[in-house]
Amino acid sequence: MEIKAAVVQEKSGPFVIERLQLSDPNDDEVLVRIAAVGICHTDLAGRDMYLPIPPPPSVFGHEAAGVVERVGARVTKVKPGDHVVLAWDSCGTCSSCRSGRPLSCLNFFLHNFHGSRPDGSPTLHRGEQVIHGSFFYQSSFADVALANERNVIKVREDVPLEILAPLGCGVMTGAGAVMSSLRPGPGSSLAVFGAGNVGMSAVLAAVVCGCTTIIAVDIQPDRLKMARELGATHTINAAETDPVQAILDLTGGGAQFSLECIGNPKVFRQAVDVLPRLGVCGLTGVVPPGTEVTLNMDLIMNARTVMGILGGDVIPELFIPRLIELHHQGRFPFDRMITYYPFDEINRAVEDMQKGRVMKPVLRM
Ligand SMILES: [Zn+2]
Ligand SMILES: [Zn+2]
Repeated sequence: MEIKAAVVQEKSGPFVIERLQLSDPNDDEVLVRIAAVGICHTDLAGRDMYLPIPPPPSVFGHEAAGVVERVGARVTKVKPGDHVVLAWDSCGTCSSCRSGRPLSCLNFFLHNFHGSRPDGSPTLHRGEQVIHGSFFYQSSFADVALANERNVIKVREDVPLEILAPLGCGVMTGAGAVMSSLRPGPGSSLAVFGAGNVGMSAVLAAVVCGCTTIIAVDIQPDRLKMARELGATHTINAAETDPVQAILDLTGGGAQFSLECIGNPKVFRQAVDVLPRLGVCGLTGVVPPGTEVTLNMDLIMNARTVMGILGGDVIPELFIPRLIELHHQGRFPFDRMITYYPFDEINRAVEDMQKGRVMKPVLRM
């Protein structure tokens, strides 16, 4: 079928909206009419070729919500008309998937960054030319996308789809890192480094978990203000104050949990240095491959834990409906982070995100 998609023609080039041809769904695939899609830094990492993906022309986009239009012959999970959120894909058969941790799938690259289906067959064409697609098995910077039954999540229909778009990556990552990986108990302390989309989702999750000391660290005053509005009990502007000393002081010896949401070796070091004994530091920030960090080995040996967390380490199919339920009850207002743009203004949305003017741009189809 013919679709409208935002194509990147060359490395770091602009998004150009074009007509492309999308393949029919295979037996295990789902055709989704996209209502809205969030823009994530990973889309830009793909555009700039920081990911191990094939070269452009490509269609990115991996934070979509929409309505099922058609399903393959063997699909039983959803039917046409169902509302769905799209998340990361996984193989379902490796040891990570089989142990209930699909976001750490051992075949992640094949299922998300292959530029085609895992079997190598392309899904997008411009005439005779193959366009790389299947980004996170969706390539949802488009009005229609082809997903797999595995990465489609059926959601309740009384919540506007445009709100739900960012749940499948950024919000899932920040909230999952707290609620699924770190699991702070009621009354505990958590320091979040980086109050962007992921960090802010972590702050919201810390409130849900009952943390009584929630510290947000950033260098942008407007983000710190929003963090306070969303439940941070303390904020630290790291451009003005040494965050390590400030956190040690205000927690009386260290934050039991910390989370790095920026992808910066210096900040990662700070997030480890604020831990007391038995403290746990989670790492969600993405860095270029090969980036090294210097840590105090003696400190870690003294009963600190450092944990790398992919996508919040959740089962999206279980976790995303829970977040929607919390949102519905007014306990997880993640939509406060969203700024909407028409699909045609994707380049303006990207620029606003890169300049820090908006936290989570969402394109409306
Ligand atoms: Zn797997
Ligand atoms: Zn993402």
